[in-house]
Amino acid sequence: MELIIASNNKHKIYEIKKILGDKFESILSLGEAGINHETVEDGTTFMENALKKAREITEISGKAALADDSGITACALGNEPGIYSARYSGGHGNDEDNNKLLIKRLSDKEDKRAYYTAAIALVYPDGTELVSEGYMHGRIIDTPRGERGFGYDPIFVPEGEERTVAEMSDEEKNAISHRAMALSGLLCKMGG
Ligand code: IMP
Repeated sequence: MELIIASNNKHKIYEIKKILGDKFESILSLGEAGINHETVEDGTTFMENALKKAREITEISGKAALADDSGITACALGNEPGIYSARYSGGHGNDEDNNKLLIKRLSDKEDKRAYYTAAIALVYPDGTELVSEGYMHGRIIDTPRGERGFGYDPIFVPEGEERTVAEMSDEEKNAISHRAMALSGLLCKMGG
């Protein structure tokens, strides 16, 4: 069976393909599938948004679609940035500006704990829906470090680590990340 990932985020797609690669005949991004569609992410939770994205792409393509909606939540800031992680500093989704804003918002807080959430929804053409959520806990640091990963990775240090996620190899990130945890739950629901 073919799978379309309801995203054009090359980092997410790479991470998802690495984990689900041998479960589908082919895995295509939206661009590779020739689909030009942007879901209005107006849900109030990561999972509502993931389900909405996957349902729309299955409807458009007639194929199985998987969507990831993810972000970071700082404990001292309530639900912030949460579902608004990509556009925290404005509409453009600029990682560097998002990181600066999160560092600034936490500058007068002693509690630097934060966690990533990944909500994954897989919707099949027959209407079957599988969902799974994963988390990675850690803390935010003041000075970005590392070149790998994306988004908030240069300022996020996972629990039990001294390095940021952006200083880890792909394999190391995939062993502990919120996305990997959500995908392994999904694999389990798919029957291995
Ligand atoms: P989405 O594409 O609407 O799900 O937005 C996800 C946003 O959350 C990204 O733009 C990043 O800012 C952040 N994010 C999600 N997962 C990760 C990750 O694995 N590393 C770093 N940032 C992430």
